Amino acid sequence: MSLAPEPADCLARAHAEALDAADPLAGYRDLLVHAAGEPDLLYLDGNSLGRAPATAGDAVRHVVEDEWGSGLIRSWAGGPAWIDAPVRVGDIIGTELLGAQPGEVVVCDSTTVNLYKLAAAVLAEHPGRGTVLIERGAFPTDRYVLDGLTQAQGRTLQLVNADPVEGPSPADVEAALEAAAGDVALLSLSAVGYRSGARVDLAAVNALAARHGVRVLWDLSHASGAVPLELARTGCELAVGCTYKYLHAGPGSPAFLYVRRDLQERLRSPIQGWFGQADQFAMGEEYDPAPSILRFSAGTPPVIGLALVEQGARLVAGAGMAAVAAKSGALTGLLIALADAWLQPLGFVVVTPRDPSRRGGHVSLAHPQAWQVCQALISQAHVVPDFRGPDLVRLGPAALGTRFVDVWDALNRLRRLVAAGDHQRYQAAPGRVT
Ligand SMILES: *Cc1c(COP(=O)(O)O)cnc(C)c1O
Repeated sequence: MSLAPEPADCLARAHAEALDAADPLAGYRDLLVHAAGEPDLLYLDGNSLGRAPATAGDAVRHVVEDEWGSGLIRSWAGGPAWIDAPVRVGDIIGTELLGAQPGEVVVCDSTTVNLYKLAAAVLAEHPGRGTVLIERGAFPTDRYVLDGLTQAQGRTLQLVNADPVEGPSPADVEAALEAAAGDVALLSLSAVGYRSGARVDLAAVNALAARHGVRVLWDLSHASGAVPLELARTGCELAVGCTYKYLHAGPGSPAFLYVRRDLQERLRSPIQGWFGQADQFAMGEEYDPAPSILRFSAGTPPVIGLALVEQGARLVAGAGMAAVAAKSGALTGLLIALADAWLQPLGFVVVTPRDPSRRGGHVSLAHPQAWQVCQALISQAHVVPDFRGPDLVRLGPAALGTRFVDVWDALNRLRRLVAAGDHQRYQAAPGRVT
């Protein structure tokens, strides 16, 4: 008897069951909310909105009833000290999940607003440079924000060419920096691409950007909580990211921003809000930015949202980023193997890097009728993917809520549905939220 499984065994449901049986994070599934009324629901959209931690309801009730209800305005200063929450929770994310130092991460605003603040801060350092670089295929909000900012300042936004599957390579970045020779004020990239899921080599890009004297602003939205990040070791100076995807903090939860300690006092937020003020409650006439990461916050922090960010970040930190990333790589690996075997003959193409160290937590499958496939999956097969136009079915099996058999069952339902042609019955035109 051979101990190594035959290749075909990897396609058997028993293989997925064996992976679940050996999964050290299996118990985390019960720490997340699963709707009792829909036991057959397979949720593969953890990259857009992570599942709710089981503790989320109690955490919100505690803030509302005890801290707000009883403590009232006293809770800003004492007991829970709401005032400290943005940096306290930022430190959990920074030190446990991002490989940053304490005092380098603050939770505030949305990713969109944080990107604007940090980009504007860097641009102010280089009034004489006319070019901002962003990757072709960047997440829309990143492109829109930088487009608006560059236009308002009479600069130009240039796209870094990149392979649509493999994402921007260091060579692509080098070529763009050289083409703009000395004129680049800022380079903005996503650590994991939202479409293909390609992971960028942060250390290599940071090193070559530094050689050109250019700062890199990383968007970690699809990376934080999915892949191991070592911001300090890989030479990252600036980053933003959201918490409602792999950090399980809930819809519209506040985002985070990271500024390496030595840069904090060299950069100024363009939004001179009182929560970034050095001695805030002195209510001074002049704006004097705090000598810390707080200078990049703006207005009153969203206390209830912060409580949820804390629950989500603690959950992921408790599991351990290395274990989460290892499971994520195995889940997406199984997904790709099944897609190759079952879905390729049905017209699907895997458009995500095959090397697990080169991808994030999701896999995209291109198909000419991707929108109809997504509709059929949701309505008929009770599988929740998301659609990214014009032709991607995006599947994000978040490590903490997804079993290997969930991936197997989801792809099995998908292949049956498409083989039977059921997706043809759905409308071809996408809806408002995809
Ligand atoms: C999800 C995501 C965002 C979200 O920005 P919001 O301000 O939270 O809407 C931004 N950038 C990237 C790369 C994302 O994946």
